[in-house]
Amino acid sequence: MVAWIGASLALMPVAGAQNTAQDLPVFGRSQAVPNPPPPALQNLPQGLPDLGDPSAALLSGVQERKLGESVMREVRGSGGYLNDPEVVGYLNELGNRLVNAVPGAPFDFEFFAMADSSINAFALPGGFVGVNTGLILLTQTESELASVLGHEITHVTQHHIARSLGNQRDAMLAMLGALAAAVLVSRSHSSSSGDMTQAAIASASGLAIQSQITFTRQNEEEADRIGFQRMVAAGFDPTSMATFMERLQRSTRFVEGNAPNYLRDHPVTTQRIADAQARAQGLPFRQVPDSLDFQMVRALLRSYEGTPREAVAFFRDAIAERKYNNEVAAHYGLVAALLRAQDLKTAQAELTALEKTAPPHPMIEGIAGQVLMQSGQLKAAITRYQAALVRYPRKMQLVYDYPEALMKDNQASKAATFLTEQLQRFPSDGPLHQLAARAYAALGKQLLQHQHQAEFYAWQGNLKAAVMQLELAIKAGDGDFYQLSAAESRLRAVRQELVDQEKDSGSNRRAG
Ligand SMILES: [Zn+2]
Repeated sequence: MVAWIGASLALMPVAGAQNTAQDLPVFGRSQAVPNPPPPALQNLPQGLPDLGDPSAALLSGVQERKLGESVMREVRGSGGYLNDPEVVGYLNELGNRLVNAVPGAPFDFEFFAMADSSINAFALPGGFVGVNTGLILLTQTESELASVLGHEITHVTQHHIARSLGNQRDAMLAMLGALAAAVLVSRSHSSSSGDMTQAAIASASGLAIQSQITFTRQNEEEADRIGFQRMVAAGFDPTSMATFMERLQRSTRFVEGNAPNYLRDHPVTTQRIADAQARAQGLPFRQVPDSLDFQMVRALLRSYEGTPREAVAFFRDAIAERKYNNEVAAHYGLVAALLRAQDLKTAQAELTALEKTAPPHPMIEGIAGQVLMQSGQLKAAITRYQAALVRYPRKMQLVYDYPEALMKDNQASKAATFLTEQLQRFPSDGPLHQLAARAYAALGKQLLQHQHQAEFYAWQGNLKAAVMQLELAIKAGDGDFYQLSAAESRLRAVRQELVDQEKDSGSNRRAG
């Protein structure tokens, strides 16, 4: 279980309902006299505008975003980050629909998923919102998932994070330091042991829990209340927040003895459910159908559960017994599970059947391309990707897989051209840089290969590896003057970032 995140921003409630919020000393901490700021924050620029909110004065939007970005780089490099373009793409569509439903969001938001079956969602500083796959699978409707995201978005828009950093910044910095250490451990053991990562992250989690980094009860109440308004403004079912809280309470009732601390610290009281029900009662009933995307993303996540054989059996049974929310999604899940099981022939047959009944959909294009590519039909895959990209130019699964197919078909030069164009649209996209590194490696262009590999490592937060790659790029001797000076200036920038990071983690350790 990767529980560290929940510690700072636990969404929820738990069954341990005998713990009422009043019993929890943690909620009193906001009144504590702040300790002197740790060194990392003493260096922050003075004279920030006073917005009438002490926390906002302590940490500006720019500073909060910078902190969030650095945590996010660690998250991307930590084995738990789910690097699945379909899931990431969907979460960002849904999340931004909620963000844009109410004008005036303080940040560009980025939503992501953690491959973790425990039930959690969380907001990081600066507009980054994560959801565990366990929570996505627990939701039964898109509106339920929207209610969770609405709650987390509200922690960001209401500056709860800046406020919690204001009250408890020492603890927060200590947690970030511990997390960075966990990631470091996971890197040095990356080949052998996922357990090591888990253990290290669990200890970061333990530290965070000890540090009691939580939102106040008032923050949680506000996140429920304003998150509800946001969800309704975005057109979702008003009853879904209460429905999901009840589902959550049922699902955690049986694990009470083993419930993680963060869950015990954040009881979902009957009060919280009653409040959510009361809010919905004032509004006209609205039936909101789920998007096909929601159902397909859940099916895709389900296809990753258990062994490949178990996943195939799950969808076969569901289809045979008609136990699904959506028929197209169930068949899509079966194709995904068959692909995972490398049963390409059956996958192809099931896909053909699916396409006869399903409406046109980019996720079907994506999986069709994969079935073709993995079964070695490269020309057919390339043709299919080209047509699909005309129709869905922003679907990242297609954007990643098309150059992959080109490279497999020994068309690295065409892949490199395509990737260069895409990097102009998405300059900070890590996976695109990694693909570009491979395309240039195939073409024997070493400077460009190492430079793109460096950008991929930087995206993952591994600045040391990025520096090494940039040094290799400069030594390669196969670039022109402009390429060389670009690599040199990037090397200087990344080295500086590394120095800053080491300074910060030093002060984190002191703070912890
Ligand atoms: Zn919350």
